[in-house]
Amino acid sequence: MTPHTERSSSGGERRASGFTQTDGESREGASSNTLLLPPRRDVSVVEVGPRDGLQNETSSIPTSVKIAFVNALTASRLPVIEVTSFVNPKAVPQLSDATEVMTGIRRANGTRYPVLVPNQRGFDRALEANADAIALFTSATEAFAQANVGASIDGTFERFQPVAAEARRRNFWVRGYVSVAFGCPYSGAVDVRTIVSVAERLLALGCDEVCLADTIGTATIKSVTETVQATRASIPIDQLALHFHDTSGSALTNVERALDLGIRTFDSAAGGLGGCPFAPGAPGNLGTEQLIGRLEALGVRTGVHLDAVAAAVDVVRPHVPRLGRLTA
Ligand code: MG
Repeated sequence: MTPHTERSSSGGERRASGFTQTDGESREGASSNTLLLPPRRDVSVVEVGPRDGLQNETSSIPTSVKIAFVNALTASRLPVIEVTSFVNPKAVPQLSDATEVMTGIRRANGTRYPVLVPNQRGFDRALEANADAIALFTSATEAFAQANVGASIDGTFERFQPVAAEARRRNFWVRGYVSVAFGCPYSGAVDVRTIVSVAERLLALGCDEVCLADTIGTATIKSVTETVQATRASIPIDQLALHFHDTSGSALTNVERALDLGIRTFDSAAGGLGGCPFAPGAPGNLGTEQLIGRLEALGVRTGVHLDAVAAAVDVVRPHVPRLGRLTA
């Protein structure tokens, strides 16, 4: 399980955060001095809808709706919610209100709220918004790194170095993404040795967690097996996360295979927000509801309230026409 320091707090504070239940059982009548336990979970679900999802939706969503979306996701007791991105607002106008969103949400003690940071400038903005967890992103291929951020893989690490050093000094939680780890839209197949090398470099940089992303949704049981087996040889398995897209309809199959291999952290986006930028109209991010539904069916506990995730999706639904079509 992802390392996670639970800060003790009064019952009243937990109630204000929506954390009034333990394992789905009502705690009504519990004294306000009762120490409410964190949810029991076998797997950590990392919610990426507010960032990775909304970044790839074309519709314009009011800042107040984004804030309400994150707050509603918090009420579902997700352990990690990636809130927004401090990339150049000109490059990603959908998230140009990152500061307002990050400073507008209510943060709960049982949840981490990382923000995406591409470089020192983005990190400075994240600091101004009182972030205490960040996500850095590089690539498994040179072609994708160049296309995505205009740098070589080495170049992305040069940008990360001062950011990661400062983040470590401040005791931030740091996540490192490896994009296109299971297939690249520009260079096709990816060499597993490159993935392992990039993951090792992220860990050496001070990342608490390394997330291998199936950015174009082409991962298979075979590639998941090979990649996880190679990576877990040098990265502690509890610091390894997977981010599947459902473009080929195999995300849940891949999750099950990865579970068998020991992975205990998976990304997903509420409502399957985001689509696939490389295959217009196709599913992109695995939906949080689908992921949790499958895990719970397997008897794997997530500690997340599924009905609360659905309620969170309803917050953004009026602003994302695609959601209505997908779920109708
Ligand atoms: Mg994604």
